[in-house]
Parts: sequence; C-alpha cells; structure tokens
Amino acid sequence: MLPETRQARAAVEIARRLRRTGFESLLAGGCVRDLLLGREPKDYDVATAAEPERVMEVFPRSFGVGAHFGVVLVETEQEGERVLTEVATFRRDGVYSDGRRPDAVRYTSSAAEDAARRDFTINGLLLDPERALKDGDIRDAVLDFVYGLEDLQARRIRAIGAPENRFAEDHLRLLRGVRFAARLGFAIEEQTLAAMLAMAPALGRVSWERIRDELTRMLTEGRARRAFELLAETGMLSVVLPEVERMRGVEQPPEFHPEGDVWEHTLRLLAQLEPGCSATLAWGALLHDVGKPTSFRRAPDRIRFDGHVEVGVRIAAEIARRLRFSNDDGAQIAALVANHMRFGDVMRMKDSTLKRFFRLERFAEHLALHRMDCSASHGKLDNWEYAKRRWDVTPEETIRPARMVTGRDLIAAGFSPGPQFTEVLRIVEDAQMDGAVATREEALALALREMQKTHTMHADENDG
Ligand code: ATP
Ligand code: MG
Repeated sequence: MLPETRQARAAVEIARRLRRTGFESLLAGGCVRDLLLGREPKDYDVATAAEPERVMEVFPRSFGVGAHFGVVLVETEQEGERVLTEVATFRRDGVYSDGRRPDAVRYTSSAAEDAARRDFTINGLLLDPERALKDGDIRDAVLDFVYGLEDLQARRIRAIGAPENRFAEDHLRLLRGVRFAARLGFAIEEQTLAAMLAMAPALGRVSWERIRDELTRMLTEGRARRAFELLAETGMLSVVLPEVERMRGVEQPPEFHPEGDVWEHTLRLLAQLEPGCSATLAWGALLHDVGKPTSFRRAPDRIRFDGHVEVGVRIAAEIARRLRFSNDDGAQIAALVANHMRFGDVMRMKDSTLKRFFRLERFAEHLALHRMDCSASHGKLDNWEYAKRRWDVTPEETIRPARMVTGRDLIAAGFSPGPQFTEVLRIVEDAQMDGAVATREEALALALREMQKTHTMHADENDG
C-alpha cells in the first residue's frame, strides 16, 4: 500500500497517465527506499520512458528543469492543492570528464539502464505504482535491477557498479554515501568504503557550495555525530574541513572536560543536534572550539587554550567564506563562536550587560549552543538555566528601551557633537536598563553630569 498523501497521489496519477500513452513509468529513487524502510518519503519522483517533450504534451501545466538532464516538473491538483512532481526520463549517463556532470545524457527506454546510472543500490530501486496500490507486500511491486533490496535488508550502502569508477565520475557521491550511511544508520560495504578512502582527495575538485550543502544536510538530519565520524574515518574531513580534522587528538584539561579531546567534545555536541535544526546553529556547534588546536598550550598548572575564541572566530569566518555562506549566515556562525564563553559570566553580569548580551541576533541559538556545550562536557547547566530564565522574563522593550535622552538634548544643552556623545548616551542607556534612572528628567540630569565630567577631563588633559 502507498501512503494517502497528496505527493504520493500526484506521482501515482502522473505515472498512470503516462502509461496510458504507452510509456513505462515508475516511482524511483529515494521515495522507494524510504517506503520500503517505513519512513515518510520527502518527495516522490517519477521515472519514465517518455521523453521530456512527450511529458510536457501530456501535462500542459509543466515545465522543463535542467532540460538536458531530462527532468520535467509536472503540476497536478490533489484535493484542491497544487502539487509539483519531478518526472525524469530514463537515461544512461555518458562519459564524465569533469568529475561532476556527464558530458552527455542519453535517453533510454530501459528502466534497468536508468537504475544502473544511479548512485547506491538502495537508491536504485524502482516501484510499479499500480501494483503498489494493491493490497499485499509492497516488495512485490519493486523492480530491483541492482540488488538494492538485499542491501536494504542488510542495512548496507553499496555503490552500483565499480565503486571507484562511480566516485570518479561524480565526486559528490562520496559525501552522499556518508550522508545516507549516517542518516539510515547503515554500514558502508567494504569495497565501497575502500573506494571512498582512495577517492577522498578528489573532493578537492567539488565546488564549495555543493560541499557546503551536503555537510549542512548531514548536520541537520539528526545523525550528525555519525556523519562526522564517517567523514573522519574515510579521510574526507581533512579534505573538506582540515580545520576540524585538526581537533582530533587535541587533549583538554580533564577537570573541565572529562569526556576527552576536542574532537570527542565536538562530536558530543553534534550528537545533540535535532533533525531539522537551524543550519547556523549546527555549524556553530561544529566550529565553536575550532580555535583550540592552534591555541593549545601546556601551562605549568594545566592545559590552556588562551585566546581560542578570537582564533576560532577568525577560522570560522574563513570557513564560512570558503564555503560561500551568505554574509548573514557567516556572521551568525562567527557570532556563535565569538560568544560561546560569555555564558560563564552571566550570573555576574549587570542587568545592562546581560541585556546587551540578549541583543545578539538569534539569541536563542546562542542559548542552545551553550546548553549543548555544557552537556557535552561537565554537564552542569546552572549558567544556562540562569540565562534562559532571565531571557524568558525580560520583555523585548526592556532589551532595547526607547531612549530617554538623545544627542539633540545634549546639543540643546549647549554641547557640540563629538565622540563623547556616544559614550555618554551609552552610559545613560545602561543606567536605564539597570533601573538607575526611571524618568527623562533623571536621565537628562545624568547625561549632563557625565558630559561635564568628560569636559573637565578633556580640559585637564589640555592643561597638562
Ligand atoms: P533525499 O531523501 O535526501 O532526497 P534521495 O535518494 O531522494 O534522498 P535525491 O538527491 O533527491 O536523493 O536524488 C534522487 C535520486 O536520484 C537518488 O535516489 C538517486 O537514485 C539519484 N541520484 C541523485 N544524485 C545522484 C548522483 N550524484 N549520482 C547518481 N545518482 C544520483
Ligand atoms: Mg529526494
């Protein structure tokens, strides 16, 4: 049986209509794998013997995407809602000369050939939708040209065909293999693993955007620890993130980090990332201690990492640039690294300092990172609990209170604008947030007192 979702219905309807015009049409790839595993497929893809022009004739509301790869997006209506389904023409890939894309795509009417060009056996399964709709074992409706059912049963990732060739054709498959192994908790079959080890350096030729997208998916699918263990074991980590690879074996003072080295600590954060978590939080977790390997020092009393935050911010920003993160996301990742140690002081912070801390963009991510950081080492959550409680009870308008005094008031009082304006207005704002001034009159009085102070100071300096 197939699930009763709009997506599933759309795919079945499209396959059925294409069949009626005489073209073999099947469900293909990830959705078949997920259905057999009892997981909810993200989307349903149709594979068909009909060429794209034919598909577009049958479905006027459709458009070609990546036209020369033979993919058409077909729009259907299911229960009054628009559903888009990818319909790909059966194909066999030509030669790959750049390690990324086939030089030419040739259509074929053979489903077996289409299965053979796919990456892993568990992704090469096809499903006859008409049969799948009938009662009974869904397995009876599967067309398995690549022994995918066996590998699915054995919980194994195996490349279709000769692994080294398949990874040489398209290097991104190296990362995809790790991603599926981690996501599904599958082992990597021996020869596939050997080929990954041998081919890992080829990842250096994949575009950083595509690497970033794969790594982000690994980080946000809920099995990030396993994914990064596999990246390390296969030698891929040192190619894509040498700065992270360097965390391995970097000792930490056991009194603060009973869990072990910087790598183990980081893995324990990754283990806490929930499926669907924010990408910047996930990258922040991965990189929060990335400055430690370079700032490692055996001081007389204990191991120290003086300045690791500053070094880490520089490295994280550099990684974000290299991986072509947007400026916003890059800044957020760097900010997570920059601020992760400040939670150690929250209980000693004045209200104004704490409120300024709360002004950080997406502060909830800072909180979440700190919680993971504690749970991944000593397990004490008192600073987190304190910060969380204060954050919960502090209304937004008191974090950024409306100003009681502005530069205009200072000008009106006879001062001419200068750098001390900013300084004094900041002092007044702090007093406001600390509750030291409650009215505009008090605030203005404080501002004038402070202006006088700096003026006398400046005068003194001039005298000297
Ligand atoms: P997900 O659940 O992450 O979407 P998926 O298996 O559906 O997993 P997609 O990236 O959506 O993966 O691709 C759909 C199908 O296309 C795959 O199952 C696989 O058969 C094939 N495929 C995708 N990328 C490649 C590739 N780089 N090389 C060979 N086949 C690929
Ligand atoms: Mg998919």
